[in-house]
Amino acid sequence: MTDSFDLVVIGAGSGGVRAARMSASMGARVAIVEGRFFGGTCVNVGCVPKKMFSYAAEFPEQVALARDYGFDWQTSPVNWPRLKANKDKEIARLNGIYRRLLDQAGVSVYEGYAQVLGDGQVRVGEQVLQAERVLVATGGKPFLPEVPGIEHASISDDLFELEQLPARVAVVGGGYIACEFASILAGLGCAVTQLYRGELFLRGFDADIRAFMAEQMPHNGVRLRFNTDVTAIHRADDGLRLDLDDGDSLAVDRVFYATGRVPNVDGLFAGQMPEMAINGALLVDDDYQTSMPGLFAIGDVIDRVQLTPVALAEGMWLARQWFASEKPRRPVEYDFIPTAVFSHPNVGTVGLTQEEALEKHGCLRIYRSAFKPLRYSLGEHSQRSLMKLIVDDATDQVIGLHMAGEGAGEITQGFAVAIRAGLTKDDFDATIGIHPTSAEEFVTLRDAETVSA
Ligand code: FAD
Ligand code: NDP
Repeated sequence: MTDSFDLVVIGAGSGGVRAARMSASMGARVAIVEGRFFGGTCVNVGCVPKKMFSYAAEFPEQVALARDYGFDWQTSPVNWPRLKANKDKEIARLNGIYRRLLDQAGVSVYEGYAQVLGDGQVRVGEQVLQAERVLVATGGKPFLPEVPGIEHASISDDLFELEQLPARVAVVGGGYIACEFASILAGLGCAVTQLYRGELFLRGFDADIRAFMAEQMPHNGVRLRFNTDVTAIHRADDGLRLDLDDGDSLAVDRVFYATGRVPNVDGLFAGQMPEMAINGALLVDDDYQTSMPGLFAIGDVIDRVQLTPVALAEGMWLARQWFASEKPRRPVEYDFIPTAVFSHPNVGTVGLTQEEALEKHGCLRIYRSAFKPLRYSLGEHSQRSLMKLIVDDATDQVIGLHMAGEGAGEITQGFAVAIRAGLTKDDFDATIGIHPTSAEEFVTLRDAETVSA
């Protein structure tokens, strides 16, 4: 039997659900196919449960701080089964909401793995769906390097299913997931070693922020080892043994690999395939159309920017472009995307790093402030924050804003509007601060260092 639609979406994650719901709300006949979990990576094994664990990992430090504020509270080891059960319950609730939202929007939901047959046809089990347009939103999956014994390694999905917390953990990688997971596990009481193959982790972030994070993360219990990679993983009597390329070895109970994610196109095409990059990313034009007419793709599977709000923006843009009476006013903007790493401390960033700015602009003014937030001023605490503004000297425009420290994600989101709008340092100076906050530093920075390419 063949069911016919205006649009068939493959993958009910961030991008797919948004595109499907919006298209249906504008009158289109829409089907969505999901093989694993409604809400996709972000809701089930990404942003949301990760942030819950990140909150949990902050409590021991806050209890220690509370002592200096006069409370004699005692810390205890985390009750992991309770934390996990509460997380599972909330994620199950969110799953249900995602499913209901699709039903309420009038989207036909198919459970199972979809295969693109070509000519607008998609197979799900025994069923074939026919559509004018097919949208691939199948997301990504962890990339694991070829290391002997890699089958003993855990991936990010595994953190969310752990039955008990390991005592000794290694985290391999120096990007978003590695820094977040290392911080979470250390905050929850595990002995954590983060191994990064290069000189300094968080490649792509501003150099001052990277150096500051390398200084700060050890205060939160993460042992950082740079210029170190794993050459083999062995099972040992009491866990795992990692051979390291500096000749050393490391005994752990678990090793998490967070070495990037690649587009998920496994078994997706029955016949003809659209053009792809080497890592499997579907190549799309400005309208998100692949090399196969009528076949579109958004989100992590196109590997432009692997962030939920970007997948949402792409999904919304397409739905409006196809089915709204008023077309979108502008394409999805990939410049000035704000982003945060929810490590301890957080990193928040929007706009250009100093290195990128120097390549594009001749002369820069750099404003920095490193300080102990007021909250940590009672007693002895190592928590500090770094804030940095990058200004194009010729135009006075603020072209980069970077922060590491408490609340960096929240603060950066607010300032992202100003940076995207192209405001100048003079606009920042003319803005009255909110006192006493950390965020006010961004409008009170006065001493500049001038740097030129
Ligand atoms: P996904 O959300 O991955 O959805 C794809 C869906 O397609 C999945 O549900 C999958 O089951 C389904 N699927 C795949 N193949 C098929 C098929 N053949 N048939 C049917 N269904 C199929 N981003 C942020 O912005 N902030 C964060 O804090 C953040 N934290 C993260 C933490 C972790 C640990 C990870 C792994 C990612 C995180 N991300 C974060 C990234 C974010 O989760 C992704 O960018 C986002 O989910 C991408 O959305 P998507 O719609 O492209 O794909
Ligand atoms: P990232 O690309 O952020 O980091 C991958 C890390 O793995 C890098 O440090 C990289 O090193 C290292 N690496 C790559 N290949 C190897 C290898 N063969 N051996 C050893 N190390 C290797 O990927 P993540 O997996 O951390 O996250 C995937 C994406 O998910 C992120 O890029 C982000 O877009 C999204 N995400 C967003 C979050 C948020 O918004 N807070 C949180 C989590 C994920 P090198 O730098 O040397 O290449």
